Amino acid sequence: MDCIFCKIAAGEAPAKILFRDDDVTAFFDIHPAAPTHVLVIPNRHIATLNDLTDDDVGLAGRLVLACKRAAFETGIADSGYRVLDNVGAGGGQHVWHVHFHVLGGRRMAWPPT
Ligand code: 5GP
Ligand code: ZN
Repeated sequence: MDCIFCKIAAGEAPAKILFRDDDVTAFFDIHPAAPTHVLVIPNRHIATLNDLTDDDVGLAGRLVLACKRAAFETGIADSGYRVLDNVGAGGGQHVWHVHFHVLGGRRMAWPPT
């Protein structure tokens, strides 16, 4: 399968990795939308949040905790940050491997456009 995020998770494509474990990988977005912009992904290919099932409850928790870890490790946990997942074309998703954006380092506007 030709999935860039699978390749990053497997270490087969270059990325600036923040951390990686058996289940998840956190790496810096190539086109940051904020001073800090980390992507958190499952190492296993899952196309969108819609494809998560009840069997993935453990993985889902690990992804959320990895977003928190990414915020602490990049120093934005106290100043505040945003975690978001674009789901499907209408939700603004462009890469079809689930990823949470962890954005911080500036004040986040609400609502997002
Ligand atoms: P989406 O629009 O799917 O929610 O977000 C995809 C994100 O992945 C974008 O912010 C984009 O900059 C980032 N991205 C796409 N390709 C690569 C890549 O090869 N490496 C890295 N580090 N980020 C990527
Ligand atoms: Zn993938």
